[in-house]
Amino acid sequence: MNILVLNCGSSSLKFQIIETDLDLIENDADRRLASGLLERVVGNALITLQVEGQAKIRETAPLRDHKAAIDYVLRWIVSPNSNINHIKSLADIHAVGHRVVHGGENFTKSVLIDENVIEQIEDNIELAPLHNPANLKGINGARELLGTGVPQVAVFDTAFHSTMPETSYLYALPYQMYRRHRVRRYGFHGTSHRYVAYRYRQLLGIEREKTNIITLHLGNGCSACAIKNGDSLDTSMGLTPMEGLVMGTRSGDVDPSILEFIHLKEGIGMRDIDTMLNKQSGLLGISGLTNDMRELLAEEQEKNDRRARLAIDIFCMRAKKYIGSYLAEMGGADSIVFTGGIGENSAAIRERICKGLEWMGLTIDKEKNGALFGGKEGEISTSDSRLKAFVIPTNEEMLIARDTVRTIKNVPRRW
Ligand code: AMP
Repeated sequence: MNILVLNCGSSSLKFQIIETDLDLIENDADRRLASGLLERVVGNALITLQVEGQAKIRETAPLRDHKAAIDYVLRWIVSPNSNINHIKSLADIHAVGHRVVHGGENFTKSVLIDENVIEQIEDNIELAPLHNPANLKGINGARELLGTGVPQVAVFDTAFHSTMPETSYLYALPYQMYRRHRVRRYGFHGTSHRYVAYRYRQLLGIEREKTNIITLHLGNGCSACAIKNGDSLDTSMGLTPMEGLVMGTRSGDVDPSILEFIHLKEGIGMRDIDTMLNKQSGLLGISGLTNDMRELLAEEQEKNDRRARLAIDIFCMRAKKYIGSYLAEMGGADSIVFTGGIGENSAAIRERICKGLEWMGLTIDKEKNGALFGGKEGEISTSDSRLKAFVIPTNEEMLIARDTVRTIKNVPRRW
């Protein structure tokens, strides 16, 4: 089957076409046929399109909304110019898989989209006011353009974390806040943590129930997940994707009383403070330079920039703290697994996070660590390390495509 995977952000659309099916999944033989990114949707969009194995095409086009963006993608997919293997017309797109950010407590696994599912995703808008509306625009746009005869599946960022026990997901707030308003930890990046855990057990040839790892998804957004016996036991993001690790522009953990303090001192309202925590903090906020880890590392190395170093040091220290607390919570783990743009590509950051953990039995092998970037996977700890470390590139789109096939064919899935 050819699956169109859609990931709609507030002003962007990412897509991939993936050829997959139950037998291909079994043999790890599914593959990406094409991909693309449309930025500045609603306006003069910047568009990047790529057929697998060919050069990227860059163009611009005025797009008025997400539906227009999907229409643009569909036209490109079937145009003779793109000439994508196996795709000649829209009838060759057999299903659509959507990334949906917040499934709240309603969704613990991927589901076939119908009116009832759409309503429930709408109910969760209050929990993810920036993300769920965009996801819904993608769902409605694809239904209108492809017709309801093409099955569509929602894959939730939160679903993998639905196994967390109350002790992980409840905040120590008055219990009514949970009962009345569903205030609790949901966690995000679930598709990434789940994919990486799956690849890990494939690499090591172990069963799902024997997977005891800490996954660190370090990209623009960052989160840690404690995976015990194959299930998410705890994760660093909370009610929203703000809590936890230091991120590109998000602060991660702060003392909640800081919000009122800033309000009084700076005379700014909650909305502006929220913007500050989400958009002007993290690596960008500390360094005053950039949210891009590559640039910060260059600033540190070439100009010896004090605040660039500070931002990187705080980023690494926060990750280390989470490793320590999750090891205690899990009663030990077998491995730490790095993924995401930073986790997959930066040997320097991986080394700095793991530095000082030798007493726990983790020693990074510099040579192995330095060799893993640009999509390569493997172990980066010394062979005698008791606690191991791995790099495993994430592939959320592949998991969304696979879940789409399995959901349509009603094949029970293990997480
Ligand atoms: P993502 O959101 O997963 O695409 O990750 C984006 C982040 O990965 C940005 O901060 C990039 O600077 C960072 N990144 C990508 N490649 C490297 C690299 N070679 N070294 C350090 N950071 C990198």
